[in-house]
Amino acid sequence: MNASEIPDLNSLPALNEIWQQTTEWCPTEIQQFQLQSLYTAVITANKTLNLTRITEPEEFWEKHLWDSLRGVGDLIQNSTPLQVIDIGTGAGFPGLPLAIARTDWQLTLVDSTAKKIGFVESIASEIGLKNVRSLVSRIEELGQDRQHRHQSDLALIRAVASANVCAEYALPLVKLGGTAILYRGNWTEAETESLELAVAKLGGEIAKIDRFTTPISNSIRHCIWLRKAADTHPYYPRAVGIPNLKPL
Ligand code: SAM
Repeated sequence: MNASEIPDLNSLPALNEIWQQTTEWCPTEIQQFQLQSLYTAVITANKTLNLTRITEPEEFWEKHLWDSLRGVGDLIQNSTPLQVIDIGTGAGFPGLPLAIARTDWQLTLVDSTAKKIGFVESIASEIGLKNVRSLVSRIEELGQDRQHRHQSDLALIRAVASANVCAEYALPLVKLGGTAILYRGNWTEAETESLELAVAKLGGEIAKIDRFTTPISNSIRHCIWLRKAADTHPYYPRAVGIPNLKPL
């Protein structure tokens, strides 16, 4: 990035009308300040950590902030407090925007890369988020750990692996009756058929396919909601690397 391409770090748009119309949620002044601080921190850390290719303020607003919140649908304004796990959080998406929007939710942000979790920890403390804890771990190991298995009301996974692999990462962590949401871009009927077979093996079912477009660039998104209908067999998730190598 040369000097003329460095974005204005204080220029995250508010876009309150779009928030309100598309999510029925709107940031308070404090939340807007926290979202702005998150943007500034990601862009600053990006110079050394390679966190994201999305750096322009409006694009960051749409593809990281709005996308993170819209993915959980009406849970953002309707749900009771939830125990949430964000799998492969990277620079904190979707977990950090959700922690800002819902201070009554408890969020666990997990990534296998220590440097990314170091960033998440420092920004969460800088902007005063008391409802975030972060962990360096491979998700396959966490899924077999009694402290985490079957513990979350909601598991979120964005841009980590193919849908069937994401299902194997996410469903073991969810409580019976809980939900996993797979954030996807385009989505096909063939993917639904393949995912149905995979989630059946994991004690889940496809509850909803939420298709929507983003409000600025009109890009297609699909959030696939999986309901945990039965306990996941102890065989899943398989050992580190196997889900990706041999997807269900
Ligand atoms: N979820 C973020 C987002 O949407 O911006 C980050 C996506 S990034 C492309 C994928 C992240 O998943 C990386 O930070 C990577 O380290 C993490 N990841 C991939 N496989 C993982 C695994 N098995 N366990 C834990 N983290 C994993």
